[in-house]
Amino acid sequence: TTTGSTDSKKLREKLPGGLLAAEFDEESCLSRYHQSSLRKPPPYKPSGSLVSKLRSYEMLHKRCGPGTDAYKRATEQLRHNDHITSSGAECQYVVWTPMFGLGNRILSMVSAFLYALLTERVLLLDPRNDITDLFCEPFPGTSWLLPLHSPLTDQIDSFNREHSHCYGTMLNNHAINSTTTPSHLYIDIFHDSRDHDKLFFCEKEQAFLKNVPWLVVKSNLYYLPALWLVPSFQTELIKLFPQKDTVFHHLSQYLLHPTNQVWGMVTRSYNAYLARADERLGIQVRVFSTPAGYFQHVMDQIVSCTQREKLLPELATIESQLVNTSEIQKLKAVLVTSLFPEYSNELSNMFWERATSTGEIIKVYQPSGEKIQQSEKKPHDQKALAEIYLLSLTDKLVTSTRSTFGYVAQGLGGLKPWILYEPRNSTVPDPPCVRAMSMEPCSLKAPLSPCQAQTIKISPFVRYCEDRVTGIKLV
Ligand code: GDP
Repeated sequence: TTTGSTDSKKLREKLPGGLLAAEFDEESCLSRYHQSSLRKPPPYKPSGSLVSKLRSYEMLHKRCGPGTDAYKRATEQLRHNDHITSSGAECQYVVWTPMFGLGNRILSMVSAFLYALLTERVLLLDPRNDITDLFCEPFPGTSWLLPLHSPLTDQIDSFNREHSHCYGTMLNNHAINSTTTPSHLYIDIFHDSRDHDKLFFCEKEQAFLKNVPWLVVKSNLYYLPALWLVPSFQTELIKLFPQKDTVFHHLSQYLLHPTNQVWGMVTRSYNAYLARADERLGIQVRVFSTPAGYFQHVMDQIVSCTQREKLLPELATIESQLVNTSEIQKLKAVLVTSLFPEYSNELSNMFWERATSTGEIIKVYQPSGEKIQQSEKKPHDQKALAEIYLLSLTDKLVTSTRSTFGYVAQGLGGLKPWILYEPRNSTVPDPPCVRAMSMEPCSLKAPLSPCQAQTIKISPFVRYCEDRVTGIKLV
């Protein structure tokens, strides 16, 4: 027993603030316990309420998850009828399906998980995607994948705004009445969702949805901040997250654990290029113009931002090139991620051709340069995920305006990034970058509904984003 208790003590030490369940086999998913050893001791501790909420969620998922009797009974409801009569089914579910790029997918998944926590639903994922190549199962003793033979699996693709079970459309057509409850509904939360879709974020509609056993949500958004504007949710959220800007940080650390394949890529890069450096800077370069590619003004912007904000040193004058070789020089590693390799090549050249004015040694590294986005392709998505994690392991981070890829990295890492503003007319914006208010991702197109007008006024911790006036974020 002595060994047992030492082992469990060791395991507890590896877990950030009691966030993770200790019931997993370590080898099957190395990232789960290894990750925190690569990060500095986290300054943000999860609250006791969050930790106990997660433990009770795990029990709920075990009791209602795939393969259980309760799951079978809930599935029967889907098979046999369209409308259930009894309210308050024993187990309820929210089904998530991937939409858009990896960053968008992670943000909507974390939002769906918070919704599941708040409404005591079980989160299940559309099984027909590469999620199992990217992430380990997060909940002990059960699965988060919707079984392939679920009657919902084949229907998922057909859910859209015209579908007879689209909740927003039903509200618009006055097809919802309080006496009959559908067994399932489709919820549409996109950047261009209609006003009646956004009623999902209203108290009255949430009261109705309490009795609907199955909700299928499709979204490309980080809609989590909008959940804070539902008054009854807000009351609970404040207890769970006394530090409001740590929501994504804690939930993503809890939910997301890269598979051994992805984690291998992360640790190999980390050990080869980042581990020995005195300081690590991440620069995420996302170019949204069409055509995208290498642009001199974007390169100038990167240099201007990093020097102005003292993230990288200036270059020495030609005369003072010869540095004192006896002095131990500080090594700064710069991790660049981009679809284009030219930005890091240029940066690397710059610091090779000239010494730095501070005498620091700058080492630039870019893991991949895939050139084009190929979402849903296994090796491409795995590389993208590995790079998101590598960015999250840096000490300071520069990101690109409105990129969900960067948002995930900053949130995971608990980093308040410097955001490179979007260039207009091919010129460097002035200022070239701005420090983010918080590490929280921006909900790029806030799915705000008139029912939230009052709540937003009295919620000072929900602000418009630095990089997107139509977006909101927690601060
Ligand atoms: P967003 O479009 O910037 O909001 O981010 P998303 O992650 O949603 O979509 C961009 C997709 O393009 C990513 O998922 C990757 O597939 C690819 N991508 C964009 N930037 C990078 C990068 O720096 N590295 C890698 N490996 N892939 C990238």
